Amino acid sequence: MENINKENDTYGVVSAKRQNIRIILMIIWVILMPITLFYYSPYLPFLGLAEGIIAGSIFVFITQFLLSIVFGRVFCGWICPAGAVQEFTSLVNPSKVNRSKMQWIKYVLWLPWLAAWVSIALSALRIREIPLKPELFYNLEDGISVSRPEAYIIYLLVLTLILTISIILGRRSFCHTTCWMAPFMVLGQKLGRILRFPGIHIRSNQMNCISCDLCSKVCPMSINIGKLANSLNSQKDKNIKVKIIHHDCIFCMRCADVCPGKVLSVGFGCKN
Ligand code: SF4
Ligand code: SF4
Repeated sequence: MENINKENDTYGVVSAKRQNIRIILMIIWVILMPITLFYYSPYLPFLGLAEGIIAGSIFVFITQFLLSIVFGRVFCGWICPAGAVQEFTSLVNPSKVNRSKMQWIKYVLWLPWLAAWVSIALSALRIREIPLKPELFYNLEDGISVSRPEAYIIYLLVLTLILTISIILGRRSFCHTTCWMAPFMVLGQKLGRILRFPGIHIRSNQMNCISCDLCSKVCPMSINIGKLANSLNSQKDKNIKVKIIHHDCIFCMRCADVCPGKVLSVGFGCKN
């Protein structure tokens, strides 16, 4: 269990070229959210499958799963609009969260949701007796999510949900408790490891570490990355770079960019 204390609540802005690019990207994704929202919809698959249609968001989830085999949760750190919204609310409530206490909630929500998809698809197949057909822009007028007044209300409700959870519970707590996309990527990343596929990871060379723990303090996913790196390094020669894979790491690289000793970096290759 992780030790959460007030000192760990330092979040702040990490000034580095890479982080500036990430902030610009996050602002763009938040602005574009009224257009892109339904491409991540957990609800449209239900409507679509009941009519024998595979909606666009199903393809997004499948793509996330496949890409995460190699790229882990890069999507969460660099592309997701909900993640971007939460990074901004982290400036309001920077509390680190207790991941182990929270993350089971999203799986309790995710499993019945996925089971419901499958059962609706099977019953549609049996009743209609026709193959399911893909429709990428199902229920999207001109490819835009918020194109009708009721869609605007859905957008506001989703935004309010993300804001409320993350402001009340702390850093990226929506990702930990509620997100229906995260399990696809966690499973994809684990599959990549099992299959020994090369993939993205964090590299750590503890030789230069001064144990300031700044890396852990700025982590948006509340990972005690400094402690993790130290414990892995203590099992090996301190001069050897260890590879760190953590199912919650979103490869934002805030930890690497804040580190005064340049201990952490991003790596690519065989993870085992
Ligand atoms: S966990 Fe979900 S909400 Fe959070 S960044 Fe990843 S996809 Fe977005
Ligand atoms: S461990 Fe580093 S790269 Fe991973 S989420 Fe935390 S700050 Fe970002």
